[in-house]
Amino acid sequence: MGPEQRHAIVIGGGASGVLLAFQLLKTNPSDLRVTLIEKRPEIGRGLAYHAGNPEHLLNVRVMNMSALPDDPDHFWNWLCARPGGPLCPDPYCFVPRQTYGDYLAELIAPLKSRDGSQGLTIVHGECVSIHENPSDVAVTLAGGTRITGSTAVLATGHDAAAPLLAGHAVPWASPADAGIDTDATVLILGTGLSMVDYVLSLLRYGHQGRIVAMSRRGLLPRAHRRVDPMRFAESEIPFGAEIGTLLRWFRGRIEMHVAAGGDWRGAIDGIRPYTQRLWQELPLSSRRRFLEHARAWWDVHRHRTAPEVEACIAELLATKRLTVIAGKLSAITPNSDGALVHYRRRGQAETSELQVGAIIDCTGIVRDPGASTNPAVRSLLDQGLARIDPLRIGIDVTPDGAIVNREGSPSRRLYAVGPLTRAAFWEIIAVPDIRQQCAELAKRLRAHDEPS
Ligand SMILES: Cc1cc2nc3c(=O)[nH]c(=O)nc-3n(C[C@H](O)[C@H](O)[C@H](O)COP(=O)(O)OP(=O)(O)OC[C@H]3O[C@@H](n4cnc5c(N)ncnc54)[C@H](O)[C@@H]3O)c2cc1C
Repeated sequence: MGPEQRHAIVIGGGASGVLLAFQLLKTNPSDLRVTLIEKRPEIGRGLAYHAGNPEHLLNVRVMNMSALPDDPDHFWNWLCARPGGPLCPDPYCFVPRQTYGDYLAELIAPLKSRDGSQGLTIVHGECVSIHENPSDVAVTLAGGTRITGSTAVLATGHDAAAPLLAGHAVPWASPADAGIDTDATVLILGTGLSMVDYVLSLLRYGHQGRIVAMSRRGLLPRAHRRVDPMRFAESEIPFGAEIGTLLRWFRGRIEMHVAAGGDWRGAIDGIRPYTQRLWQELPLSSRRRFLEHARAWWDVHRHRTAPEVEACIAELLATKRLTVIAGKLSAITPNSDGALVHYRRRGQAETSELQVGAIIDCTGIVRDPGASTNPAVRSLLDQGLARIDPLRIGIDVTPDGAIVNREGSPSRRLYAVGPLTRAAFWEIIAVPDIRQQCAELAKRLRAHDEPS
């Protein structure tokens, strides 16, 4: 076994890449080398935890955001040890997402190698191709640098959507950078968490004009409350049932819980430990129906905002500074003041018009890997080393994260973690699930002298 056989290359240094690198190196660091490749200047931030707007809070309580599945207080203890204190009174709170980025960056910093021969090497650059050979994997960066290792793990996360139409701003840039007139009417496409983020950013940059958010159903994300998760007995959950039966059962359980004085959030949180198994045992046709008909409902109840963010949005709605429209965009006619937007309200045949100064695309992230512009993902797909799952929401991976090739064989050297693996797990977007996935994959990779 040569040194190259114990070299894991992790592509993507967002939360998933950092959590995996940490798990790979937390024991016996001399036994294994890890190279973490990240195209952004900062490690551990990715799309979610960059040092942008401090009013962008975590969507998950501090108590659930530990990087380490076997040490649930780790993040809270880190917050308490900060020079400025924990920022909030108890671990039930929601702190700025940029603080979480600081936490991840600090987590990984001590693992950095001094001489590049052991521990962690961080390489800044974009991975443009990955090749799998019988005895190694070779990863190439945009500048031509080639790195070889025994395994490569894709942790490339979310594909940020390109603006729907040329000239439209994306939610990840600040309104100031987008040059939005503070008195203009701003149309935000999408009414989910990215829309909420952008509204907060508009306010931070002094926006005075009207804000209109539009999505097909006009559903807004719900907010967290302090509730205990319901306890489900595994035997009562209809694993393997088709989606109609499953949803009827779940709605029934929510109604019973609410009738007994509980909160619907308790049911959503209580089912969470079982959602990956439910997804995996759901027939393919039912998964498809869930994505088409129930996903929007599930998303707004499952991915909730901090109560303070909810209060801010409620006030904007009450004062009509923010309007939410359930409708569908039919045309956009650019003009000297921005654009005239033509749309149809849900359930109505006639078209309405709205003059706006700017349009922001918050319709979310690209979920179809076939539409990915990420060269690392494209490289695997183009060579047939990876394939897209039948629902086109992720790449095909085995339950332990091995990437499945065009012929249906799992790779012995190529793995993936994080949102890219959602086809296999569905519930693999947030830290509580990703940290578990990374710990399990690291255990497996550490145990292997050589892939077999
Ligand atoms: C706005 C937002 C807020 C969120 N808030 C929360 C929250 O509060 N709590 C929670 O649990 N979850 C939250 N999430 C969910 C989020 O998916 C996870 O918490 C986590 O951030 C996912 O990390 P990731 O590393 O998989 O993906 P990403 O954050 O997308 O990071 C991927 C990284 O890979 C790099 N990369 C990609 N391709 C290449 C390449 N070819 N070469 C080199 N580098 C590459 C990117 O630059 C990026 O840094 C949020 C998500 C978003 C988008």
